[in-house]
Amino acid sequence: MSQLVIEDLHVEIGSREVLRGFDLTMSSGEVHVIMGPNGSGKSTLAHALTGHPGYRITGGRASIDGVNLLELTPSERVHAGLFLALQHPLDVPGVRLVDALVSAGATGEDVRERMRVEAERLGLRDELLDRFINVDLSGGERKRAEMVQFGILRPHFAVLDEIDSGLDVDALGAVARRLSQATTEWNCGVLAITHFRRLLQELTPDVIHVVSAGRVVATGGAELSEQLEAEGYEPFAALGR
Ligand code: ADP
Ligand code: MG
Repeated sequence: MSQLVIEDLHVEIGSREVLRGFDLTMSSGEVHVIMGPNGSGKSTLAHALTGHPGYRITGGRASIDGVNLLELTPSERVHAGLFLALQHPLDVPGVRLVDALVSAGATGEDVRERMRVEAERLGLRDELLDRFINVDLSGGERKRAEMVQFGILRPHFAVLDEIDSGLDVDALGAVARRLSQATTEWNCGVLAITHFRRLLQELTPDVIHVVSAGRVVATGGAELSEQLEAEGYEPFAALGR
């Protein structure tokens, strides 16, 4: 069993501290959801975990099984078992998915054939896999292509920022189903970030974390999402100040 531990993480953008002591621990096979209002620092967490240069870590730790992710290059983080899906995946003209996957360490008999099988599970047309990464793909196709990468790399932990934004019901269902299956297929831990409750209907979380002003202010089960539904984020905001 693996553990992802984020401890007292502080992150600045420019001169502003956006994450102010963020804590979260999860084990493989679990599904955790981070919810919080706009501007609470959810995407900042995802960017900081990728190693995005604009996000300065000023304190704290993030590790998988004791390996400090924050000291690693983005590609070393992938090798350490971290998969990140950002809200706005970049186009990568000139690079095909299969090449990116091989250079990310995908091995085995035939990566392209495994990609075909993954694409079929997600309802993605196979020929799209031969295009340059994300070039001329629709929102739903991009997310499905990203989930093909996920299925090939089989990470210990996947962090997904706003996977539900811009997806239709069918695409969201396909993505959520693939993530759920991964939790049993290879005991993947899934950390999904969202500000919509819609995702919770598709992806049944074990644990929900509410974020306000750069830190986790509440952690619980389904009762938290019911409270959010009834009362909104306002009662939690006071806890973050
Ligand atoms: P969320 O994803 O929870 O909506 P973000 O992590 O994107 O929130 O943003 C948290 C705060 O950081 C916001 O106040 C936002 O304005 C600020 N912020 C985010 N990205 C940048 C950036 N590139 N430059 C300056 N401020 C930023
Ligand atoms: Mg965001």
